[in-house]
Formats: sequence, C-alpha cells, structure tokens
Amino acid sequence: MTALTLERLRREGQAFSEEISREGYLAHAGHKSTADLQPIYERHAEIVGEGALELTLDLFRSAAAGSEERRSAGYLLEWQIESQSGREVVELDEREIAWESSAVIDVAGARRVPYQRAAIEIANAKHRQERLAIDEARAKVAAAEHSPLRLERIQREKAYIEELEIAPGYVGTFEALTGISLADLGSQCAAFIADTQAMWDDTLPFFLRRSLEITPAEATRADALALFRGREFDGAFPASDLEPAIRRHAAELAIDPLAGGRITFDLAEREGKDSRAFCAPVRVPEEVYLVLRPHGGVTDYTTLLHELGHALHFAYADPHYPFEYRWLGDNSVTEGYAMLFDHLMQDRGWLLRYTGLGRNDVGEFLRMASFEELHFLRRYCAKLLYELEVYSGKTGWDVLPEAYVETLSTATGFRYRSADAFIDLDPRFYSSRYLRAWQLQSVLAQSLVGRFDEDWFRNPAAGPWIVENLFAEGQRETATELAVRASGADLSFAPLASAIERGLTG
Ligand SMILES: [Zn+2]
Repeated sequence: MTALTLERLRREGQAFSEEISREGYLAHAGHKSTADLQPIYERHAEIVGEGALELTLDLFRSAAAGSEERRSAGYLLEWQIESQSGREVVELDEREIAWESSAVIDVAGARRVPYQRAAIEIANAKHRQERLAIDEARAKVAAAEHSPLRLERIQREKAYIEELEIAPGYVGTFEALTGISLADLGSQCAAFIADTQAMWDDTLPFFLRRSLEITPAEATRADALALFRGREFDGAFPASDLEPAIRRHAAELAIDPLAGGRITFDLAEREGKDSRAFCAPVRVPEEVYLVLRPHGGVTDYTTLLHELGHALHFAYADPHYPFEYRWLGDNSVTEGYAMLFDHLMQDRGWLLRYTGLGRNDVGEFLRMASFEELHFLRRYCAKLLYELEVYSGKTGWDVLPEAYVETLSTATGFRYRSADAFIDLDPRFYSSRYLRAWQLQSVLAQSLVGRFDEDWFRNPAAGPWIVENLFAEGQRETATELAVRASGADLSFAPLASAIERGLTG
C-alpha cells in the first residue's frame, strides 16, 4: 500500500466525494429507494480513516498562517472531520433515507399522504382545517419516528467531534476550523431580530388577515407554509413557462444554463423524490444535477433560480483547481450565488421581463416578497441562536424542544411544534452559511449593479464576467474575502434590512 500523501488524499478524496454525491442524488431524486452509503465508506476506508485525519491535521498545523497551504489544509481538515463524523452516523443516515421514502401519514383516518409530500400538501390545502389536519398527522409521525432518528444522529455527531479535541467543544471546533465567529454572527442575529421587530409587528397582521383571514394569535407554522406558497400570484407563474423563462433569462445574460451539457435539469414529478429541491454536484465541474419536485407556481420559480445559482457555480468552476477549491471550502459562497439568483424574484425589472406579472400587480408581489424575506431572515437568525443553544451543551436535551418552540415562534410569529426540534436543524451550523450567504448576495448584487447597471441580469457582458471572475474561483475564497474583492464591503445585515424596508413601503 502506498503511503497516504496530499496527492493521494486529493485524488481519492475526490473519488469518494463523487460516489457519495452520486448515491445521494439517485436516492433523493427518487431513482433509487435506498442509498447504499456504507459500501462507499468501506471502499474508501483509508480516505476516511485516522491516517487521513492525522495527515490533514499535520498539514494544517505546519502551514504558515495566511498562506495558500494553510487555506488548502484548513478546507481539507474540515472535510476530513465532516467525512469521519459522517462515517460515524452513516447507518443512521441510510435508515433515515429509507424511512423517509416509505413513511406515510394518516390524515384523520380519511386519507394517506406520503410523509415527503406533507409540506407540499400543507402549503396547497384549500381549507385551513385540512391544512392543520395534515400538519397534525405529520407531527405525530415526526415525533414518534423521525425525531428519535435525528436526535441520535445529532448526539453521536456532537460526541464524535468533541472527542477529537481540536478545540474546546462543538462550537469552538467549528469556529477554529472555519474561521467563522459564531458568537459574532449570533449577536448580529439577535440584533437583527430586535432591530426589525417593529417592522415585523406592523406587517404580519396585515398579511395574515389578507391572505389567510386569521390573526397572529392563531398563526401556526403550517399557516406560514400556506402563506408563503403565494397562491394568489400563481397565475403569473405557470408551470409550463418555468423552464423556458429561466432559459431565456440565462441566454440574455449570455450564460449557457446547461453549461455545455455539464448540468442536467431533473424537474419531473417522481414518486420518492424529495420535496426539498437540491443541486447535486456529482463531478465538479463536469457533472451536476439540478433536482426539483414541482410544487407549482411562485415557489418553483424561486427554487429553480436558487438551484441554478448552485449548478452554474459548480459547473463553471476552474477544472485546474485542486479538489479542495472545487469541492470544499466555505459553502456561504455557493449559497451566496444561489441567493444572488433567487433574489431576482425581488427585482421589479426581472419580474416584469420573465414572469407573467404586469405593472398592476408587481408592486403587490414585491411587498409580499419583502415580507417573506423578512420572515425567512428572522427564522434563520432564530435557528442559528437555537442551534447555538443545542451545541453549546448548556441546555438539557429534554428541554431543547421547548427552547426550539419558544425561540422560533417568538421570532417568526408562527407557532412551531416541539416535534420538529431535532428535524428542523442543520448539522454543523449550515444555517450560518445561509446567513452569511444572504449578506454576501446583497454585496454581490450591489457590485453587479455598479458594473452592469440595474438590469445586469440581461446584460450579455455580465454573464461572462460572472463566470470568469466569480464562478471560476470555485470555493477557494471565503464569503468574507469574496465580499471584499467584489465591493470592498464587509458582510452585514444592514443592506438587507434597508432593502426590506424599501420593499415593504413600495
Ligand atoms: Zn442552497
């Protein structure tokens, strides 16, 4: 057996990542009912073994601070820890995937709905009674079967990471590896929630009454799904126009949405397909899947734009970059590109050009979109604060569901359910990547407006510039570095709060 070197780690690490990603794509897209992940870990045992972890730790510790070697070693080490903790819980992941694709909920003895379709059915239910009944049935199954699986996964991953003793605690380890200060981001989140409280209190009752005919006291998370489904605007977002509209947009921006065949759109309805859309980079940049299970209407447009941002970013990454700059790094960057594209749904010019909205209804749609943006930002801020509580270990597991309901319900104004406390939780603080991505997309959009004008999205000079200066870099830079390079600005919530305020007041 040849000794493990950086070269081998990169080569075989890439092969391992490709196999895991392909298996995940096939299972979550409904092409297979199970994901056979364990054989992949066995085949690549050395790459997710202790020797590989030691090698990356050595590389990380011996590289000079601020050097390119240190950057590369940091990404590799973070990936090693993620893969090794992934191996610890791989059997739980397989069980969860198998369970999710077969679980069925029984709605008040009247009808049976696949667990994975519950969110779609709740959002689309014609009457509130039905919506609440489906959610009731969903929560029952979630509490009894889904939540225990997730709780065990969270506990095992946390214990594994803490035992590595890279830094004190789970939170400290994340901060040491990523250079992201969660304490700082957490206080930004708490401040954002406080600063936008008055704006939120002024807005929520109006939208609840107008769209759902309910008061804030009654509102639940199931109502939030229905509210943000935005059915009233569906007429302007027909399913048949979805793909053509997005392709026309890409063509005007002079970006090939299929990246010369490297991207595959998987948009068909299929049994066993996840209701949550995703982008699966199976080989970067050569083979990327964009997977979406159609919900109908506005949601699909936003989702397709989001996943397109990811897909383009992966498919246009410089193939000469090493594995870690194409596959690894700060996911706030890829989420930032995804959000740069999905935020076009809050751009008047884009909406008028590529959707069925006219001058009469675009203003109303934009107000609704700003309200939704504020809701999701407050939700994610609360999510991060709750996750910090989970992983700091200061709150007992048995009282965390209560903390979850309290934190999320207060920030969003919608009553959450304790059954979701361990399901609605992103491992390894992925919510921090989303929050930084939100901040990054506003910086990127500003920079594109500065270079290519308000309608940069249809400027044929902008697309090639984005590909060459942004996408090609893969994930070599962190979101913080990218923001500085693109516009000299630091990441913050300030531009987001002002954009929302402008949007709400029209
Ligand atoms: Zn995303």
